[in-house]
Amino acid sequence: MFTAMRAERMQGLHFFSDQASGLEAIVAIHNTHLGPALGGCRYLPYNSLDEAVADAMRLARGMSYKAALAGLEQGGGKAVILRQPHVANRAALFEAFGRCIESLRGGYITAMDSGTSSADMDCIAQQTGHVTSTTEAGDPSPHTALGVLAGIRAAVRARLGQESLSGVRITVQGLGNVGYALAQLLHAEGAELMVSDLDQGKVRLAEEELDAQPLALDAVYEAPCDIFSPCGLGGAINQRSISLLRCAAVAGAANNQLIDIDMADQLDARGILYAPDYVINAGGLLHVALTHRGVAHGEIAARVKAIGERLDSIFTQSQSEGRSPAEVADRQAERIIYPDASG
Ligand code: NAD
Repeated sequence: MFTAMRAERMQGLHFFSDQASGLEAIVAIHNTHLGPALGGCRYLPYNSLDEAVADAMRLARGMSYKAALAGLEQGGGKAVILRQPHVANRAALFEAFGRCIESLRGGYITAMDSGTSSADMDCIAQQTGHVTSTTEAGDPSPHTALGVLAGIRAAVRARLGQESLSGVRITVQGLGNVGYALAQLLHAEGAELMVSDLDQGKVRLAEEELDAQPLALDAVYEAPCDIFSPCGLGGAINQRSISLLRCAAVAGAANNQLIDIDMADQLDARGILYAPDYVINAGGLLHVALTHRGVAHGEIAARVKAIGERLDSIFTQSQSEGRSPAEVADRQAERIIYPDASG
C-alpha cells in the first residue's frame, strides 16, 4: 500500500467503516499544499478493495492537478463509498459518511460524483459543513459546459485562426448533463453539430432542437469535423480511435480522455491539437469550490471563461517547446503543487 502511495505521491489514505449503516468508505487525500483537498464522492460497486483504493488515489491526484491549473487554493482528494448490492437506508449511509468527513476536520471537502446525487450531499451536509454540490449549491454541469465552450474557442483560435464558431463542425460524443448543455451553447453560436449517445432519445432531441446530425456510436471518430468533443466516458482516445480521427482538435468534457499518456504524443504526431481534459473541464470544479467559499456568481463566471486563456498559453508553450499540451499542462501543475521540488 505504501509503495502505491509513494508512486502517486499520496499524502493520506483514510478508511472508514460504520456497522449501523453498512458504510465502507475510503478518502484519498493527494495533496493539501494549496488548501484543503476537494473532490467528489463516488458510490460504485468495485471488484475488490484494491481496485477501489487505486481508483480513489488516481482520481485524487487528478483533482490536485485540476485545482492547481484552475488557479484554486485547493488541494486534491477523492472519496469512494463501496456500493453493496443492497443498502437498507441510503440517507443513513450518507449521513454516516458525513460524520467521517467531519472527523477529518476540514482536510477534505466532498462533492457529487459518479453514483451520487445532490440529495446524497444534502444528507452529508446534516453532519458536516465540508460538503458542496448540495441541492442549494446547484448542479456544476452547466458550468463545466461553459468552460468547455471557452476551451473549444481556444482550440478554434489555435487551429482555424478565427474567433467565431459559426459554421465550425463539431462532433459531441455523449449528450449527458454536460454534453447536451455544451451542444446547446454551440448551436447558439452557429456551430454545425454532429452527435452520438448510447441513448437514442437524447440524439433525437438534439436533432429536433439543435439541428444536429446523428452519428452511429462507431462512426463518431471517423466523421470529418473541426473539433471532436468527447463528453461521454473516459478512454475515448485509444489505440483504435486515434487512427480514425479526422479532426483538427480534441476538446471535450470527459475525464481521462487519453487511455494512456502515449496518446498525447500520437495526437501531436497526427497534427491534432489536444486540450488537456483536466484543464478544459475545470468549470464544474471552479463552480463548486468558489460557491463553497461564497464567491459571487459574476466572478465565478469570469474564472470559468478564463479556461480559454489558460489553454491559449498551454497551446503556445506546447508549440514553442515542441512538447504535447498534455505534458505542458502536467509540468505547469507540478510546479504549482510541488514548488520545492527541483527539476
Ligand atoms: P452523464 O452521465 O450525464 O452523461 C454521459 C453521457 O454520455 C450519457 O448520456 C451516456 O449515455 C453517454 N455515453 C456514454 N458512453 C458513450 C459512448 N460510448 N458513446 C456515446 N455516448 C456515450 O455525465 P456528465 O455529467 O455529462 O459528464 C460527462 C463526462 O464529463 C464524464 O466523463 C465526467 O466525468 C466528465 N466531467 C463532468 C463534470 C460535470 O460537471 N458533470 C465535470 C468534469 C468532468
